[in-house]
Amino acid sequence: MVMTSTQAGTGPAVIGRMEEFEHEEVLFCQDRTTGLKAIIAIHDTTLGPALGGTRMWPYDQEGDALSDVLRLSRGMTYKSALAGLDLGGGKAVIIGDARTQKTEAMFRRFGWFVHSLSGRYITAEDVGMSTTEMVNIRKETPYVAGLPENMGGSGDPSPVTAYGVFCGMRAAARTAFGSESLAGRKISVQGAGNVGMHLVGHLVKDGARVFLTDIHDDKLAMIAKTHPGITLVGPDEVYDLDVDIYSPCALGATINDDTLGRLKCAVIAGAANNQLADEAVHGRAVMEKGILYAPDFLINAGGIINCAWERKGYDRGAAMAQTERIFDTALGIFKRSTTEHVPTYLAANEAAEHRVRSMRQAGLHF
Ligand code: NAD
Repeated sequence: MVMTSTQAGTGPAVIGRMEEFEHEEVLFCQDRTTGLKAIIAIHDTTLGPALGGTRMWPYDQEGDALSDVLRLSRGMTYKSALAGLDLGGGKAVIIGDARTQKTEAMFRRFGWFVHSLSGRYITAEDVGMSTTEMVNIRKETPYVAGLPENMGGSGDPSPVTAYGVFCGMRAAARTAFGSESLAGRKISVQGAGNVGMHLVGHLVKDGARVFLTDIHDDKLAMIAKTHPGITLVGPDEVYDLDVDIYSPCALGATINDDTLGRLKCAVIAGAANNQLADEAVHGRAVMEKGILYAPDFLINAGGIINCAWERKGYDRGAAMAQTERIFDTALGIFKRSTTEHVPTYLAANEAAEHRVRSMRQAGLHF
């Protein structure tokens, strides 16, 4: 059963929330046989089809899932716009436990829903997903990226994302410290996952002093074995460290009322999406505290750049070269923030909105 919010009688609450940030379409999907409960949000397709991953998470409330997908899909519009991609912003969430509830049938059914959008939305991996699910979705629709290399895909995007975060962090270092070199800089990395692991490799190579945390000791042990010089710290200790740079690479909303007073860093630059618990409140608060915040969607665009190259014929070298441009884009955003006395998140939002608006005004709509 397919319902768009405008047809479904889901009430003004949903449409009102769509109006707030001008989302184009929200598709609610359920299938009792496979247990699928999903929401696909298309924020903006001015620049191209809305590409963004699917997240599987056991949300307590349906409203939480809706909030997440609306915020994440808008972030994708901004991410692709700033990265210079001809892609719009979309995202999907599946309500469920990724460890116990994933089945082939569920993901094929989900692929069927993605296909019903006729290419306006293209999915990929996000939290809780792997290439296995993308392969199952591909059985029902061609509108999927992040496929394995043996299927002509680009494989795991995390190394490319990590490289982009590294480039963005170097731009932030140049702005804050006068040099992009991270040699000797004390950097805390929160999250020893796919991105964190690759990021640590770049930081160590550049001569940084790395402090790493995760909630899973086995992941920490694995990275410490490869990089014996790093220091492992506890998950809560990370907010109190006396470091130059804090790099959130785990979950969102780690910059909040509780942590802001504890952070001693001069720069925040990491991979996690939606790091600011409340964009307007905490985006301004970091600036007032004298911290240079590298907007997440600006510097974690490596993954979407990789997916974009997969769609037009994968070329790893070209994807890495385009990802490297995050350095210059970030420098421009930091400069604008300083010149105009606006928080970096706002400078980045405005630059993204400007690109979308100017294409729309020129009639260059996807
Ligand atoms: P991942 O699931 O591989 O790694 C996340 C890690 O964070 C895990 O090891 C987990 O144990 C750890 N973690 C969870 N809660 C924690 C906590 N409270 N303290 C410390 N560690 C904690 O995910 P990933 O692919 O490495 O992505 C990391 C972040 O970057 C996510 O927010 C993701 O949305 C974002 N991101 C990833 C990509 C990509 O290409 N993978 C692209 C853009 C954005």
